[in-house]
Amino acid sequence: MKKKEWILTGIIVLAALLMLAGMKYFPRKEGTNETAQPVQTEDPDHSVPMPEEKAEGEWIAVVNRAKVILYFDSAVDGEYEVEGNVGHMVIEVKDQMWHVKEVDCYDYTCQHMGWIGTESILPIICLPNDIVIIDAATASEMVTR
Ligand SMILES: [Zn+2]
Repeated sequence: MKKKEWILTGIIVLAALLMLAGMKYFPRKEGTNETAQPVQTEDPDHSVPMPEEKAEGEWIAVVNRAKVILYFDSAVDGEYEVEGNVGHMVIEVKDQMWHVKEVDCYDYTCQHMGWIGTESILPIICLPNDIVIIDAATASEMVTR
C-alpha cells in the first residue's frame, strides 16, 4: 500500500472509533432527557409518586390495577382524564367535591354515584375500569408501589 492509502485507512478507522464512542455517549444523553419528563408519565409497574407539597384540601388518589395513576387536590377545581381498563374517565372536581363526568363504562355505576366529598363514606368505584377514587392514605394501603 502507498503512504496515501495508509493515511486514508487510518482516517476510516478513526472515524469508526468516533462513531462507536458516539453510540456509547448518545444513549446516556437520551437517558438524562427522560428524567426531565413530567411526573405523570405512564409507568405500568409503579404508582405515580404522591405530590410532596401539602394539598389545599386532601390528596385524592385514582387507583387502577392496584396502582395510583393520578393524585388530585380535593380543594382545587379542575378536570382530570384517566385511562381505565375499558376506556377513558373524566373526573370533575368542584367546591371540594368530585364526580365522574364522563366515562367509557358498562354499567355507569361510577357516574350514578354522583358527587363525593372527603366526608363521604363510599369511594367512587368503577368495576369495569378497575378504578377506585379514594383518599391518598387509604390508597397507599391498597396499592403496589
Ligand atoms: Zn363505571
